[in-house]
Amino acid sequence: MSERIPVSVLAATGSVGQRFIQLLDGHPWFEVVSLTGSDRSVSQKYGESCHWILPEPMPDWARGMTVVPTTPEAAAAPLAFSALPASIANEAEPCFAQAGIKVFSNASSYRTAPDVPILLPEVNPDHTRLVDVQRRARGWSGLIVTNSNCTSTGMTVALKAMQDAFGIAVVFAVSLQALSGAGYPGVPSMDIIDNVIPYIGGEEEKVEWEPRKMLGKMEENEIELAPFAISAHTNRVAVSDGHTMCLSVELSKRADVKRVAQALREYQASEISADLPSAPKPVIVLRDEADRPQPRLDRMTGRGMATVVGRLRPDPVYDVKMVVLSHNTVRGAAGGSIYNAELLVKQGY
Ligand code: NAP
Repeated sequence: MSERIPVSVLAATGSVGQRFIQLLDGHPWFEVVSLTGSDRSVSQKYGESCHWILPEPMPDWARGMTVVPTTPEAAAAPLAFSALPASIANEAEPCFAQAGIKVFSNASSYRTAPDVPILLPEVNPDHTRLVDVQRRARGWSGLIVTNSNCTSTGMTVALKAMQDAFGIAVVFAVSLQALSGAGYPGVPSMDIIDNVIPYIGGEEEKVEWEPRKMLGKMEENEIELAPFAISAHTNRVAVSDGHTMCLSVELSKRADVKRVAQALREYQASEISADLPSAPKPVIVLRDEADRPQPRLDRMTGRGMATVVGRLRPDPVYDVKMVVLSHNTVRGAAGGSIYNAELLVKQGY
C-alpha cells in the first residue's frame, strides 16, 4: 500500500485503547491521526492523560497528541478503532457509521444486531457480507464490524477446526479470565489477591451465544446460528493478561484424540485472511506438554494473535477435552479489530 490509511482510536486511554496504540505503531497500512477520550482527558496531551500500563513503551508520536472528543468531526479519519464502553458506543458508533466512517468495535453494543458481523478473519470472513445488508437497512456509507467478547475468541477458533472436521454437538466451557479483561483499574486488588471470583456480569450469556453467531451459516441476508448448545462458567483470576478456557466437547461425528489433534494442527485460515499483516501463522498452536498452555508463558505465541491449545485428552462424558489460551487484549480485542479492518480493506470496503 503506497499511502497509509488515516485512522482514529476511540477511547485511546483505556486498557484496549493502549493496545491499539502499541499494535498500530509502525503498522504497514494504518496511520493513527487522532485519539479520543472522555471529558476527563479531552484537550490534554495523551502522555499526560493516559496511565500507560503496557510493558512496551508508549510510542513518542502518541505521547504528544492532544486527546479530542469522541465525535466524527473531531476524530476526522475514515476508519475508527473503537475501545468505547458499551454505554457510550450505543449512541456514538452509529453516528460515526452515519458519517461514512468504518468502525471496528470492541464494545458489545451491536454484537447481537442481526446485520452486524462478529468477525474473526480466520473463522468467518464470509460474514462481512452482512455489511451490505447493514448499509442497505440503515442507509450508512460507513459501517460497524465488531469483535467478539475476548473470552469467546480462542474457544471459537478451536471449535471452528473441530466443527469443520467433525461437527459439534455440545460444548461445556469453564473460563479463567485475566484482570486486564476488566479494563483499568478494573477489579480492586483486595478482591482478587489470593482469590478467584466466580462471577463476571453478563459474561456467561455472551460466551454461550457469540461463538454460535461466529460459527453460524451466512444465508442470503442473515446468519443462521450454529445449532449446538454451550454451557459456560466464567471466573476472574489473578492473571494480568491471557484468558484460559477449559473445554469439553461432544462432536457430531465421533473422533479420537489423534484425529482431533490433526484437525487442530492442520486448521488454516481461508486464503483471503491468511496473508494479512496481523494474521496468526499458524492459526492454532497445539502443545504436547502435560502442563501447557499457561498464560504467563504462552500468551504472546504468534505475537499474541495465535490460539494455543493443550492438554488434549479423551473426555469420559463427552468426546474430548482441552485447554485453550488466547491473549485477551491482543487477539481478543485490539489485535482482533486491526485484523478485521485489514480484511475489509482487502475485500474492498
Ligand atoms: P477501560 O480500561 O475501562 O477504558 C475505558 C475507556 O473508555 C477509557 O479510554 C475512557 O477514557 C473511555 N471513555 C469512558 N467514557 C467515555 C466517554 N463518555 N466518551 C469517550 N470515551 C470514554 O476499558 P477497556 O478494557 O479498555 O474496554 C474498552 C471496551 O472494550 C469495552 O467496551 C470492553 O467491554 C471492550 N473489550 C475489552 C476487552 C479487554 O480485554 N479489556 C476485550 C474485548 C472487549 P478516559 O480515560 O478519557 O476517561
